[in-house]
Amino acid sequence: MKLSGKTQLIGIIGWPVDHSFSPAMQNAALEAAGLDWAYVPLPVQPEHLGSAVRGLSSLGFRGVNVTIPHKQEVLQHLDELDADANAIGAVNTIVIEQGTERSWLVGYNTDSSGLLADLMNLGVDVAGRDCLVLGAGGAARAVAYGLAITGGRIQVLARRVDQARQIVKILLPYLTTARLHYRPTGTRLSARPLSELRDVVYNVSAPIIVNSTPLGMGPQLAGSVWPDRMPFPKGAFVYDLVYNTPQTKLMRQAEAAGCHTANGLGMLIQQGALAFQLWTGEEPDLEAMSAAVS
Ligand code: NAP
Repeated sequence: MKLSGKTQLIGIIGWPVDHSFSPAMQNAALEAAGLDWAYVPLPVQPEHLGSAVRGLSSLGFRGVNVTIPHKQEVLQHLDELDADANAIGAVNTIVIEQGTERSWLVGYNTDSSGLLADLMNLGVDVAGRDCLVLGAGGAARAVAYGLAITGGRIQVLARRVDQARQIVKILLPYLTTARLHYRPTGTRLSARPLSELRDVVYNVSAPIIVNSTPLGMGPQLAGSVWPDRMPFPKGAFVYDLVYNTPQTKLMRQAEAAGCHTANGLGMLIQQGALAFQLWTGEEPDLEAMSAAVS
């Protein structure tokens, strides 16, 4: 990649950002598209978030991805939010729009659409299906929202049930609006303590189970949110958001029980592809993105 003063910059802000797959993935897509653009990692300490975001426009950036720990804090520094980011209360992509007199920053969340796109590629139909979201952090919020607007019956299970209840409280108002892609009957979104997983499992049918905890990743590589020897419901599909290992312990447990599984690499690529489209207006080369991170 040859950089010049004309190279259009995009990037990712987080703290830390060294672990991120996005620079390799996005630069591969930019190169495949023949664009004179570059995607740079931008480590930004939490106390510098506001000044860093405000400076992006002056530095000529077209936009950035936002990762841990800034996805929620960044909202206060933006001018506008798209509907998904507003409902989820978190932003993973910023687009800097240039007007004639000023620029303005628009926040998007492509995590939920990225998950839905990957599930569609995998042939997993969500509408009308039981969905268990395990964990109640930032990613779980995007997952629960995506599955709910597509017509899943969602139970969010977390070791701190207050966190799961908070997700339900935040998302429910958005699930009563006309934005829903599908209108199922009955309760669509509820919260349970993770300690009740066994009871929940006996009362669902062929669910989609999404691990939205970091168990199975990095220092918790050997961990799984699923207790050993606990059976999986018949016909369950297990999706693990963890993407930096081809098969997590949860996936091995589920496959041993005859379930289909996927890790979070497809979602990572799809959320990145959506961000790429928002910045460039072009469809990225998914194969180039995938090859860069596989
Ligand atoms: P987060 O905000 O820190 O939330 C993590 C959640 O997991 C919290 O509810 C936390 O509970 C729970 N948790 C952590 N350790 C646990 C344990 N030992 N037992 C039970 N629950 C536990 O993190 P996040 O941003 O939501 O990310 C979660 C995972 O998703 C990460 O691995 C991240 O890399 C992955 N992710 C993947 C994609 C993708 O594109 N594939 C996108 C986003 C995120 P407490 O609050 O009680 O600690």
